Amino acid sequence: MRKWKVFVSLLLVLIFISSSVLASAYSIKYIKIRLGGKTVTVRQVPVVVDGKTIYTKDPTFVMNSRTYVPIRFIADHYGGKVGWDDATRTATLKVDGKEIKLTIDSKTVYVNGKKHVVEERLAPKLVTFDYGTSKARGRTMVALRLIADILGYKIGYDEANGIPSITKPKQNNSNTGGNQNNQGNDETKIINTVKDIKKETVNGKDAIVVYKTNKVEINQFKLGSQDVKLVFDLKNSSIVGGGYYVYDISFGPIENVRASQFDKDVVRVVLDIKKGVSNPEVEVIDNKDKLIIIPKGVEPETPKKPSIIISIDAGHGGHDPGAVQNGVNEKDINLEVAKKLDSALKKEGYDIVMTRDKDVYVELKERADIANRNNSDIFISLHCNSFSSESAHGIEVLYNPNRSGSKQLAQLVLDELVKATGARNRGIKERPELAVLKHTTMPAILVEMGFISNKAEAQKLQTASYQNKIVEAIVKGVEKYIDTYN
Ligand SMILES: [Zn+2]
Repeated sequence: MRKWKVFVSLLLVLIFISSSVLASAYSIKYIKIRLGGKTVTVRQVPVVVDGKTIYTKDPTFVMNSRTYVPIRFIADHYGGKVGWDDATRTATLKVDGKEIKLTIDSKTVYVNGKKHVVEERLAPKLVTFDYGTSKARGRTMVALRLIADILGYKIGYDEANGIPSITKPKQNNSNTGGNQNNQGNDETKIINTVKDIKKETVNGKDAIVVYKTNKVEINQFKLGSQDVKLVFDLKNSSIVGGGYYVYDISFGPIENVRASQFDKDVVRVVLDIKKGVSNPEVEVIDNKDKLIIIPKGVEPETPKKPSIIISIDAGHGGHDPGAVQNGVNEKDINLEVAKKLDSALKKEGYDIVMTRDKDVYVELKERADIANRNNSDIFISLHCNSFSSESAHGIEVLYNPNRSGSKQLAQLVLDELVKATGARNRGIKERPELAVLKHTTMPAILVEMGFISNKAEAQKLQTASYQNKIVEAIVKGVEKYIDTYN
């Protein structure tokens, strides 16, 4: 019964192709899926395949910064086939000359019969979408990244619209397939084997250690300008098991580490560099049995506080400027302070969720939902006040008396703010009906940082030094709250 259902459902995925113009009009939508017995909220996104924006009936979505697509999706767009073995919960994807066997929740992937072990988070998942009326249907979902890596396709991400893409490279790249023969030169001499790659501490620094058996010539270079990769080609080398491996190594500028039998006598080790880092520097130590790569400028990881999640909400945005006075848009100050608060709290080891990090409008209820969805422990909304009389000034903190902890948080933050800025203390105020305070389920406050209708305060609020004082004070207040009540 189950076998039939899953197999048929794999065949039933309907694909809609629309013009890429629609992509910009596509609004982010959060959907609930069932995964491993839990309900999870994920962001539904279309995927741009070779330049075309694809919307599918079974949603493609982003979860933990990974894009997942129905396995059928890949087959449909690249002329492949999908099979399903219910006994082993294994899907077989035949596409682009490769046979890929993927088992639900398994890190082991077979490509043309060769075994590969991939990162845990890249393991295929069985996801159930609830369509409400009809029966829930199980789908094999695969990480777009995994398939792209196996096929040698490129994945990208449109930051502005939050839409991922996959692109098959043009044919003339002879390296894509890996083992293309060069002029029948058969002088392959393997003198080194790459056995494993690990993250270790070397001379007190975080390092990537490539375990190998011999010293060989290493060709090191950088690829890409936006998605930067550092490549180390080890000559006269083979990798244990052959093929392609992903190592779950991420620290400093390193997003990910991969290694593969790139050519018959070349092992390629690739360090994927995090976004925004264009010129990563590394120190390389090559011993006989270890290649040690130490990224420069990596501070030893500060012991993380037991992950406390703080949502920061920059009030207004986009078409809603908030209060506009004395040449100031409230939304801009809110966002500037929010960004500063984001990095200040991150430095203290907190996990931060921003309801917006650019000049866009987010619905009030959605702001609260974002905080709720991300299991935030604290919610801080940032606003500026405005009044008909120019004379009004000072700082106040609003809270919902029906939400436990909120009052204490409000008082602690206000005290620090007044101390740091010298601004007038307008007190803490009960505001149970404010949408973001009403709909959030954790201790939540709304900080009115000052009056932009007051010339002097409007001017101060625009300066980095005053914003920094506000940020430091909020951080202090939050820390005190956590120390006392957490
Ligand atoms: Zn406001």
